[in-house]
Amino acid sequence: MAHVSDLIETDINQYLENHQNKNLLRFITCGSVDDGKSTLIGRLLFESKMLFEDQLAAVESDSRKFGTQGENIDFALLVDGLAAEREQGITIDVAYRFFSTDRRKFIVADTPGHEQYTRNMVTGASTADVAILMVDARKGILPQTRRHSYLVSLIGIRHVVVAVNKMDLMDYSEKTYNAIVEEYSAFAKQVGIENVTFIPMSAYKGDNITSQSEAMSWYRGTTLMGFLESVEIDEQRLQKQAFRMPVQWVNRPNLDFRGFSGQIASGIIKPGMKLRVLPSGKESSIARIVTKDGDLEEAVASQSVTITLADEIDVSRGDVLVDAVEPAEVAKQFETTMVWMHEEPLMPGRTYLMKVGTKTVSATVMDIKYQVNINTMEHLAAKHLDLNGIGVCTVSLDQPIAFDKYLDNADTGGFILIDRLSNNTVAAGMINFALRRSQNIVMQHVDVAKEARSQQKAQKPCVIWLTGLSGAGKSTIANLVEKKLFAMGQHTYLLDGDNVRHGLNKDLGFKDEDRVENIRRVSEVAKLMVDAGLIVISAFISPFRAERAMAREMVEEGEFVEVFVNTSLEVAEGRDVKGLYRKARRGELKNFTGIDSPYEQPTNAECVLNTNETSPEDCADKVIEYLVEHHYV
Ligand code: ADP
Repeated sequence: MAHVSDLIETDINQYLENHQNKNLLRFITCGSVDDGKSTLIGRLLFESKMLFEDQLAAVESDSRKFGTQGENIDFALLVDGLAAEREQGITIDVAYRFFSTDRRKFIVADTPGHEQYTRNMVTGASTADVAILMVDARKGILPQTRRHSYLVSLIGIRHVVVAVNKMDLMDYSEKTYNAIVEEYSAFAKQVGIENVTFIPMSAYKGDNITSQSEAMSWYRGTTLMGFLESVEIDEQRLQKQAFRMPVQWVNRPNLDFRGFSGQIASGIIKPGMKLRVLPSGKESSIARIVTKDGDLEEAVASQSVTITLADEIDVSRGDVLVDAVEPAEVAKQFETTMVWMHEEPLMPGRTYLMKVGTKTVSATVMDIKYQVNINTMEHLAAKHLDLNGIGVCTVSLDQPIAFDKYLDNADTGGFILIDRLSNNTVAAGMINFALRRSQNIVMQHVDVAKEARSQQKAQKPCVIWLTGLSGAGKSTIANLVEKKLFAMGQHTYLLDGDNVRHGLNKDLGFKDEDRVENIRRVSEVAKLMVDAGLIVISAFISPFRAERAMAREMVEEGEFVEVFVNTSLEVAEGRDVKGLYRKARRGELKNFTGIDSPYEQPTNAECVLNTNETSPEDCADKVIEYLVEHHYV
C-alpha cells in the first residue's frame, strides 16, 4: 500500500522507483488513552492519504456509533482496531502501522500507556528512531510522561517529540504551551534526554500536523510531518559508525567457497578492508561482498550480505566481524540494565541463556545493584525483579563475547535473556559496560590438570548430586555411599547441605533467591573439587530444576550424576528426623520445601532411589553399582 501521489497516474514506474528508494523512519507514540495518541496516528494516516474511500466510510459510520467526537470523524477508531480494545477503550498490545509520503516511508508502533505494559513499550520501541510523547495541553506533564521518557532514554531512542496536543481546547494559548516546554525541558535534562522537539498541535483539528497552524501563528517551529520527514534516522547514524556484523551463518555451498553471512549492524565496508573476527581476534581482509544480485563494491548498515575473506581463518556462527582499526570490545562480565518480562521473577544466581546478536551464551545474573522505580526514578535495593521491573544488574557469562555499549550500538549491545527450560524470553537488556574486574582476571594456565589428577587417583571425578525432600534420606545415603567408596580406596568428599550452611553459606536464608544462591555456590565448590580429581557427593534438597541444570552444566558432560532420592511427602513427613515438618505445619518455619515452597521433581536423573521400598544400604549399593557400571570407579 502506498500513499496517493500524482505520479501514480502520470508515471507509475517513476513512482515505484521513488517509493523503493525512500528511506524508512520508525517511531513510537507514547501516551495514555485520553491523550489523543490514536487520533494522532489516524490523522497522520489520513493526511498521507493512506485511507481508502471505503475505510473512510466505515470510520464515519463507526464514529457515529462509538466515537467521542460527535458528528466529526473520530480518527482514533482507525487505530484502535480491535473490538475488545474499543469496548474497553484502551490499547493493549503493540500495533504497527505503515504509511508514506513523497519523502519517506514510516512505521509507527503504537504502544499502550498504562504501567503494566512496560514490556510492550520496550518491545515496540527497541528499533525506533523517534518517540512521540503525547501531552494533553490541559493536563501538562504527568507521571506517565516521565515514566515514558525514562523508558525512551533507557532504550536509547535518540529523538523525542513532545506533542503538546489538544491546543484547541486551551484556546491555542502560547502561555500554556510555554509552561509545558519549560517544565519538560528541566525534566529531560535530569534524565539525560538530549534532542527534544516541542510541537503545539491539535491532532483532532489538524493543527501543525502537516501544515502550519493559523491559530498558532506564534509558533514558528516545524510541523510534526515536517519533522518526521527530515530528522536523521538511526540507520544513517549507524552508517557513520565502525563496521560490525554478527555472523548469522557460515555459507559453504562447496569446497571452493566459504562466506560469512549476516546483516551489517553498522558501518560501511568495501573489498580490501581489514577485518577482525571476535572474540578470537584473528584478522584478515575482505575479498568479496557477495549478494544474490551479484558482488558489491560497497555495503552499508542494515544490508544483508555474504563476506568472503582473503585468508582461511576460523569464523563461526555467533562471531562478530568488526573493523580491525576500530574493533568492538571483548568481555565476560558486564553491568547491564534489564527490563524483566516474565511472571516468574528474576533471581540472582540463576543461569539463563543470553542472546546477543547471533550468539547465545550461558549467563548468570550475579547481583541486582538496584531496581529503578520508574515513577520516581528512585534507586531501590532489590533481591529479585518482578514482571516489568527494571534493574541494573551485573551479569557473568560462561565465555567471552564481542560487544559494544548499547547506547553506541543496539545490535551488538542489546540482548535478551531466555529461560533454559521453557525457552521463554524473560528479559530484554542493554550492556552498559564491561566490568573491569573480569578483564583483569584471566584464567591461569596450570600444568597439573584434571586428567593427571584423575589418573593418579584411578577414578573418573564426578559429582553425585542427591536431590529430594527434607527427610528423604539424602544425608543418610550420601554418608553410606562415601563410606563404601572410601573402603574401595576412592578419593571422595561429601558436601552436605546443613554443614555448608554452617560455614560458606551461613549468610543465606531459605527464600527462593537464597536457595538459588546456595546451590550456585555449592555447584562452584563441587566443580573445583571435580577439578581436583575427587568424587564429590552432595546432599542438598535443591528443589528447583533450573539450579540442578546449572550445577550439571558447570561440570563437563558425564561428570554429573543426578540421584533422585524419591520419598513421598507423607513418608518424609512421617520420619521427620529433625522435627522440621512439625515446625513448618505449626507455621513456625516459613518456605519449607514440600509445605509452602515447591519441590520440582527431576525428570532425567541418572539414578532414582525409592526409599519408600528400598533400605538405605540397598540405595547406597545402587549408586555404587551405577558408578562401577559407568566406569567412574
Ligand atoms: P535428608 O538428608 O534427605 O534430609 P536424612 O538422611 O537426614 O534426610 O534423614 C532420613 C531419615 O530417614 C533417616 O533417619 C533415615 O534413617 C530414615 N530412612 C528410612 N528409610 C530410609 C531409606 N530407605 N533411605 C534413606 N533414609 C531412610
